[in-house]
Amino acid sequence: MLLTITYTGESATDLGYLLYKNPYRPQMFELNHGKAYVFYPEVSQQRTTAALLLDIDPINLARGKAGQASGGLFDYVNDRPYVSSSFLSTAISKVFGTAMTGRADERQALSDSPLNLTAAVTMLPCRAEHEKLKRVFEPLGYEVIYDTFVSDENFPNWGESSYVNLTISAKVRLRDLLKHLYVLIPVFDRQKHYWVGADEVEKLLRIGEDWLPMHPEKAYITGRYLNRRRYLVNMAYERLASANADDGEIITAEPESADEARDKVMNLNTRRLGSVVAALKSCGAKRVIDIGCGEGNLLNLLVKERQFTHIAGVDVSHVALKRAAEKLKMERASDSMRERVSLIQGSLTYKDARFSGYDAAGVVEVIEHLDIARLAAFERVLFEFAKPPVVVLTTPNREYNANYENLHNGSLRHADHRFEWNRSEFRTWALKIANRFGYTVQFSEIGDADEKYGAPTQMGVFTLCE
Ligand code: SAH
Repeated sequence: MLLTITYTGESATDLGYLLYKNPYRPQMFELNHGKAYVFYPEVSQQRTTAALLLDIDPINLARGKAGQASGGLFDYVNDRPYVSSSFLSTAISKVFGTAMTGRADERQALSDSPLNLTAAVTMLPCRAEHEKLKRVFEPLGYEVIYDTFVSDENFPNWGESSYVNLTISAKVRLRDLLKHLYVLIPVFDRQKHYWVGADEVEKLLRIGEDWLPMHPEKAYITGRYLNRRRYLVNMAYERLASANADDGEIITAEPESADEARDKVMNLNTRRLGSVVAALKSCGAKRVIDIGCGEGNLLNLLVKERQFTHIAGVDVSHVALKRAAEKLKMERASDSMRERVSLIQGSLTYKDARFSGYDAAGVVEVIEHLDIARLAAFERVLFEFAKPPVVVLTTPNREYNANYENLHNGSLRHADHRFEWNRSEFRTWALKIANRFGYTVQFSEIGDADEKYGAPTQMGVFTLCE
């Protein structure tokens, strides 16, 4: 991804003093998820252009598990290296941090003056929001030009690309241009890479203090910058509104809850597994089976709980079971550990005596991998034949996908998912199962619940009637 800033004027090479970057010496900066390069493709007394090039490592990103869309191909195949995302904001503040403050020891007067500046942002994600580009940048005095593309010339019916190349020009102070870019690039990139926490409110208000309170689109900018986290948006909005006293649109702020604070450090996977372990513990189970255990993430937590005297994991995939055995260090395990933990290769859609005799079963993000036509077989295998007294089952809530920007046109969260249910479909299914096989079921949500779409994961705890 590339950002260029062009200064047209007398002694245009002074841009180097304002940015604290020598036009004649390319520089490289290490960032958390890649590298940033600064160089000048064009240097003359009339016109000088500085370029900030980001080289993001998608693998490194996936390892950090920083993405919001959890799991699956997205971890490795994503648009992050190529688009102007919030990483660009991070790089702007890191590489041009001094320029953003307005300090310019060698050219302070110039830094304090509005200059003829143009910024070009390549590949800004901007799904069907082209008119917003103007509504966001024009009130700040910019002339806005953007180029759109077709996704693939060979496949015109794929329609327009979600990205634009944006050019904004104005007579503006360099520090203001940088601040505008810093806040407004993530507004268009809905898929922020870091957890948005309360400190983001401070950052937004600090960087936006001179211009955001007056901006006609401040509600949109605030909402999008804070990734629509309701409580943060409210907090920011209230403070913006009080900075601009005539504003009647105050929404009451809610304090950050313990849950939301925890959210910053725990990703959805961790929270989901935590909820499942808690449900398995609280039902008093001693012998537990993880149905569709995959690479053993849940098993790894279960073995840490002394309450569980017998732990089994079942999966159809040899590869997954091998990874699970590695994670559990089965090769070097003591006899008692081998006695306690068993890994079973088997199919969930065939009746299997090895699944019986457990007090509780976990079925974490598995049913959506089954062909809907095979679901009925699975229902009988688990609830009729294995018949554990408690089943803790999770599955994605499809409604929540509206919050994942990389999921459009109704696509599912994982390439291997055969279906994803909304909350009512899941409830209907679960109640039908409970009724048919003699269980009761209680529902809960896992992950931050969106007001409209609910939480990303839905959980049902089935209890066999006495
Ligand atoms: N519970 C794990 C893995 C979820 S992915 C976790 O939360 O991390 C779904 C898993 O179900 C995969 O490991 C897949 O191999 C397994 N699976 C899918 N269909 C199956 C079937 N018919 N029989 C057994 N396992 C199956």
